[in-house]
Amino acid sequence: MKTKGQKLLTITLVTCVVAGLTANSFAKLSHEQKSLSGIETMVVSVSCSEEAAKETGLKKEDIRKDIATRLEQAGIKIIPEYMYGPPRLHIRIKAYKLPRQETFIYNLEIHFDQKVALPRNPETKITATTWEITWLAHAHKARFVEKIRVNLRIMVKEFIRDYRKANPKADKLAEVSDANTVSLTTQKEPSKQPARPAVAEHKYIASKNSKVFHKPDCRWVKRISAKNLVGYNSREESIQAGKRPCKTCKP
Ligand SMILES: [Zn+2]
Repeated sequence: MKTKGQKLLTITLVTCVVAGLTANSFAKLSHEQKSLSGIETMVVSVSCSEEAAKETGLKKEDIRKDIATRLEQAGIKIIPEYMYGPPRLHIRIKAYKLPRQETFIYNLEIHFDQKVALPRNPETKITATTWEITWLAHAHKARFVEKIRVNLRIMVKEFIRDYRKANPKADKLAEVSDANTVSLTTQKEPSKQPARPAVAEHKYIASKNSKVFHKPDCRWVKRISAKNLVGYNSREESIQAGKRPCKTCKP
């Protein structure tokens, strides 16, 4: 049984295909890049109707793993789905088979949901989509899974790009080795890693590449490469240097 909404969507999609508008294009619907700032972990989930998954041979878990791996490679920590709750990156796959054909028209959506507060009433916390991207295209049944995987990778790349712009510190994450983290916690021991005296000697810490300052024990500080560390002795000094307080450690 299809709902009225689904029928309408099918008609719209078919119209688009007929009109030749599906030249594999994506559109960012809302890309509030700043809303990704300070996000450290997220859940990745995939939805697709059973019917479409069955017809196309799509395996939701494969798609989810693929996306999660890419995000992890970009330094984003993925938490298991059983700990469900925002923030969440959700991939929604809608596919409709064209009548009497082996072709599917499909719509891919990636949206990022998180808890937000209403400015007029900050007590009210709701889950909202603050970043969203969509892709409309079509594919032959035999190539469907392969094509949407490629499309989704491109879409996720857009997300990672925005995530990195919003979290310049995370940009350096790939460079931060385990050894570097160890040198932070065992500073007294001689180490070949660059020293992190800024962390030990200052009340407030920032990265050269970021506008945010932290308390030395903030988890974000561990992610700053030694060469980019800068220290301040007072909040005023940090603010005068053009930095603002971190939302995680609230210095
Ligand atoms: Zn912090």
